[in-house]
Amino acid sequence: MSSFINNLSSKLPTISTSIFAVMSQMAKDHNAINLSQGFPNFPVSKQMIELVSKAMRQGYNQYSPMQGIIELREAIAEKVSILYGINYNPETEITITAGATEAIYGIISAFVNQGDEVIIFAPAYDSYDPTIQINGGKSIEIELKAPNFKVDWQEVKNAINYKTKMIIINTPHNPTGTILSKKDMQSLEALVQDTNIIILSDEVYEHIIFDDQKHQSAVLYKGLAERSFVVASFGKTFHATGWKTGYCMAPKELMHEFRKIHQFIVFSTNHPVQKALSTYIKNPENYLSLPSFFQKKRDLFLEALKGSKFSVVPSKGTYFQLLGYESISEENDLDFAIRLTKEWKIASIPISVFYLNNMDIKVLRFCFSKNDETLLKAAEIINRIGK
Ligand code: PMP
Ligand code: GLN
Repeated sequence: MSSFINNLSSKLPTISTSIFAVMSQMAKDHNAINLSQGFPNFPVSKQMIELVSKAMRQGYNQYSPMQGIIELREAIAEKVSILYGINYNPETEITITAGATEAIYGIISAFVNQGDEVIIFAPAYDSYDPTIQINGGKSIEIELKAPNFKVDWQEVKNAINYKTKMIIINTPHNPTGTILSKKDMQSLEALVQDTNIIILSDEVYEHIIFDDQKHQSAVLYKGLAERSFVVASFGKTFHATGWKTGYCMAPKELMHEFRKIHQFIVFSTNHPVQKALSTYIKNPENYLSLPSFFQKKRDLFLEALKGSKFSVVPSKGTYFQLLGYESISEENDLDFAIRLTKEWKIASIPISVFYLNNMDIKVLRFCFSKNDETLLKAAEIINRIGK
């Protein structure tokens, strides 16, 4: 190898290809049912397709404004005001992003400096830690303990010090399917009072919440909203993960800093999709129908899994269900997930990838954002494993 290649040094030496890319490819290669990466296998609404096509025909094919088109930002402000009774200024406090991933990258990059600490809750979504690292920060992991994955706020309090720049919360939570309660949010609010800590509240599953629970958005808590970025994803809400469109909201001083970064990551995002969303989002039925839509899927999947050897705590939100295999195999979760994909033709996500130390708790994550036929077929396979 040339010395040039030998002398290359990685900025992320411990990071490898995302598990979502790995497992989806493996599912394809082995012709397995893919319940690994989180995306629906049913179509987006015909109306949305029509609206995007119409926007393209009407000529919305050039750059959108850097912060996103004003119609969409206004429609988001209206939706947030209807849902939570809180007003965000669409001019200065809302930015349309290339999915939640770009928002997360931009928010962390705008504020985290060399040596800063960011508190994350593990198992944690896989983009947080690499983004913290690339900005010179350090992730401080608070472990959510199985099987209920509740936050120990005393532990969070003990972890906060003068280096703590940011706390990242995620409710409903990927990968555990748990949600933060009002009491959790109040505990966090009390902890950050009188600090300079910024909150990144990843709420991409705000509309995928079950059993009549109310989503506890950071916008509802004054002491949080004043220091929070709330991150959302239209990919999750409107079954269109491939359109990579989302947004973030924050008080204008924070948003001002975020936009400095956003403009140099993507400048602006997909224009015709924004145009379509600004119409589609105005009908509340398009998002208010989601809890019951996905609860039916969760219930169908869980009912079909009765009698399986996996252990289950029903998901309270997101479109993920954890299944424990402690009574089936001693294998580590990555090996087990790979074997299930190759031998049983069912792909899932091993939970160890969401811990900094790859802790193995013998749990796999299955995505139930699939049509009924796929879910029943998958359950039939899962029921045979370990018997
Ligand atoms: N945060 C969480 C918790 C997620 O599960 C995902 C995956 N959808 C994202 C952020 C990224 O969302 P997007 O696809 O809109 O970039
Ligand atoms: N958020 C999705 C998941 O958790 C995947 C996103 C991605 O592929 N990066 O499965």
